Amino acid sequence: MKYDVIVVGAGIIGLATAEYLLQQGLNVLILEREYVGKECSWAGGGILSPLIPWNYPQPVTCLTKFSVNLFPEWTARLHAVTGINPEYHQCGMLILPPYDLGSAIHWCSRNNANMHQLELPQHISTERNKKVSHSEAETRTIFLPSIAQIRNPRLLRALHRHVIRLGGQIMENCTVHNLTVKQGRVRSLQTSRGKFTANDYAITAGTWSKEVLGQYAFNLEIKPICGQMLLFKFEEPPISAVYVKGNTYLIPRKDGHLLVGSTLEDKGFNKQITISARNQMLKNASAILPELYKTSIVHQWSGLRPATHRNIPTIGQHPNLTNLYVNSGHFRYGITMAPGSARILGNAILGATQPLDIYPYQFGWKD
Ligand SMILES: Cc1cc2nc3c(=O)[nH]c(=O)nc-3n(C[C@H](O)[C@H](O)[C@H](O)COP(=O)(O)OP(=O)(O)OC[C@H]3O[C@@H](n4cnc5c(N)ncnc54)[C@H](O)[C@@H]3O)c2cc1C
Repeated sequence: MKYDVIVVGAGIIGLATAEYLLQQGLNVLILEREYVGKECSWAGGGILSPLIPWNYPQPVTCLTKFSVNLFPEWTARLHAVTGINPEYHQCGMLILPPYDLGSAIHWCSRNNANMHQLELPQHISTERNKKVSHSEAETRTIFLPSIAQIRNPRLLRALHRHVIRLGGQIMENCTVHNLTVKQGRVRSLQTSRGKFTANDYAITAGTWSKEVLGQYAFNLEIKPICGQMLLFKFEEPPISAVYVKGNTYLIPRKDGHLLVGSTLEDKGFNKQITISARNQMLKNASAILPELYKTSIVHQWSGLRPATHRNIPTIGQHPNLTNLYVNSGHFRYGITMAPGSARILGNAILGATQPLDIYPYQFGWKD
């Protein structure tokens, strides 16, 4: 059977892309090397924002803003049609010192984002924290009330179910090995389960996208950066907002689960969890929430983020192969950017009008 589009990789980006294409009436097949939504997308924390929003280039801010605005309606609809609730929750994000107050104020006013400066919460306003505070700004926090979170494993399950309901075909345990190319077009994909053909091909294989593209990767640079996380369980959520201090963050779920993240490890495709990472994360997180030292760790896991050196994903058509597209390289904010990126890629395939300037998401081919 010939499909309109074959999507390679069933993480959040592949599923969201397939969902959008199916909704536009296309016939879509997803090929997944292992199981749907079990790689990086499952491992993520589900904060719907970059951690320190003012530290990122403008194309990240633009795509994030566009995508985040799609979440309330998207997740409500997924909940309604699948019965699975991704728990979209606008809990806000509290940034603990040290931070660059000037950049924060400038970024918030430029992007019309609400921001309040609040006193340090009681439980972390200890003598030890006061001693390391160097300026007035460092004794206060920045609260961004509009920032939300979702439970990404639930979002993935809902999306999976919705894609099937929309008529999408999904083949698991199917590794794409090669692209067969003739006269500037991809003619077929060679996989562990035979040959598949379509009019268009979308590579959404996360940190493996460069490997899938092989000799057609052009100058695309996507590499794995491992992130480890810890999970705790409380009777009640011990905090009400996402707390961020440097690279350490705490995400409270409504049912009392608390996620602590994360490491940033450049160690190739190795995603082994380690005791040293666990100890370091526990130490950093306990400086924010001292009860964590007395609470047992329920789970530790890891995922491989698709990193690019500019921090900007590549979304769009291949420079030389007219029916080949990529939607990849979302690094630390692929959950956040998923619905927006899916629309951009879907519109590129359909030749439809784009909702924002997509030129920056082509830079990856030129790196
Ligand atoms: C610890 C951690 C915390 C994070 N926290 C957040 C957060 O709070 N907010 C946020 O927005 N983002 C977060 N992220 C980042 C986010 O999870 C990623 O950007 C996003 O999941 C990338 O999605 P993806 O679909 O591109 O990749 P993946 O989910 O990795 O999906 C790629 C899929 O392609 C498949 N594949 C690979 N090779 C082949 C092949 N040859 N043939 C067929 N299929 C193939 C893989 O099996 C996989 O299922 C976090 C990541 C980590 C690791």
